Amino acid sequence: MKRRDFLKTCGITAAAVAAHDLWRLEALAASAGKRPNVVLILADDLGYASIGVQGLKDIPTPNIDSIAKNGVRFTQGYVSCPLCSPTRAGLMSGRYQTRFGHEFNPGPLRNVSESFGLPVSQKTFGNWMKDQGYATGYVGKWHLGYKPDLKPTKRGFDEFFGFLSGGHPYLNPSAQGNEPILRGTETVDEKEYLTDAFTREAVAFVEKHKADPFFLYLGYNAVHTPMQIAPGREEKFKEIADEKRRTFATMMTAMDEGVGAVLKKLRETGVEDDTLIIFLSDNGGPTGANTSKNDPLNGVKGTMYEGGIRVPFVAQWNGHIPAGSLYENPVISLDLLPTAVAAVGGKVGEDAGIDGVNLLPYIVDRKDGLPHDRLFWRMGGKRAARVGDWKMVHESADQTMLFDLKADIGEKNDLAAKEPDKLKELQAAYDEWNTKNVAPLWGGGAARPAAGQRQGRLARRQTEGQPAPAADAK
Ligand code: CA
Repeated sequence: MKRRDFLKTCGITAAAVAAHDLWRLEALAASAGKRPNVVLILADDLGYASIGVQGLKDIPTPNIDSIAKNGVRFTQGYVSCPLCSPTRAGLMSGRYQTRFGHEFNPGPLRNVSESFGLPVSQKTFGNWMKDQGYATGYVGKWHLGYKPDLKPTKRGFDEFFGFLSGGHPYLNPSAQGNEPILRGTETVDEKEYLTDAFTREAVAFVEKHKADPFFLYLGYNAVHTPMQIAPGREEKFKEIADEKRRTFATMMTAMDEGVGAVLKKLRETGVEDDTLIIFLSDNGGPTGANTSKNDPLNGVKGTMYEGGIRVPFVAQWNGHIPAGSLYENPVISLDLLPTAVAAVGGKVGEDAGIDGVNLLPYIVDRKDGLPHDRLFWRMGGKRAARVGDWKMVHESADQTMLFDLKADIGEKNDLAAKEPDKLKELQAAYDEWNTKNVAPLWGGGAARPAAGQRQGRLARRQTEGQPAPAADAK
């Protein structure tokens, strides 16, 4: 690689090369010419307070924590929707999913709209990485369409192992649930606890492609319901009296151990330092359903409060992102696509309509300023806007609230009546953003305000031994 291109790839301009950058340049020089791998790990329904570095106390998560310790923790890392499928559509495209009608979850499998799925008009994260010459693999929960042309292997991923819906039982997974576990498009007979099976496949993908530049998207369905205890981890949490919490602890541990196994394989194959690793959750914790907490944030999965949309969000890239750093300005899951494309030496053009921004200048070079001075969310009648530290929350038809997040991270003090001009400003910003959205392509049970309650009912049915409805309701 030419030096100029190399520096450009690293987000460095000549003016920015100061003495304090020299340590990093030395590290970069050691890996010059190598194209970094990208490993994106997405947890499911994991709340803001549900990793150790973010305050989780009763369940150790040393492996997920290690990503933050080796890299950066985003304290204001958002997703673009408080529910599974729309967030995935935004992450997969780098665009607000309401730009192309992917506004809602599809509803239970038996009721899925014919039109459901990430529209083929949208270029995917996999497509972008394939354009860069990368081997691409997807392991886990897809939730972006069932039809043949919407399956992962048609959407930019060379390899797929997982399931297509929004949720799946973990124990003896091929024998349970409403749909198969697939390798590519073929049904497989999977008997391993599903989180462990996904880990096994992710590790095998790294081994297989250790000599190639690769992109691995590992979408665990943990810690989404159903609450099914992870074999071999029961003893560790026998002190936890509450059954649901104890089950959650084993599920969380299985995922953390899975992250650890992937990190270990990257290390063993000698590619850890050449790999950008990102971990985040697809939405906030549905605390009633799975005990995943969002403290100190208000709200849960399905709401536009911070607890629905601000999530655990960490990344490491040794020699590039300073170890143990914090990034405290707002970022969003839409940023990951342009960030990854930049990390591997590409660039998303203006004409691509990408809403996310490349975060490398901010987290590697500690560039001043904000990646986003405003962020927006829309899901049916629910909406939110964030401009600076102000946030408008429209959670139901009869109430629009205004919060100052700097003073009130818990969104307890509604300032709508006190600050009418500020509320108008945020409403106007939202309206402007909303002009570029389109009508939803399918209706959504997702707009129902009681997502957390529905989860609670599902969990109760399962606890009581009743069959669960189609597992992809979320
Ligand atoms: Ca989810």
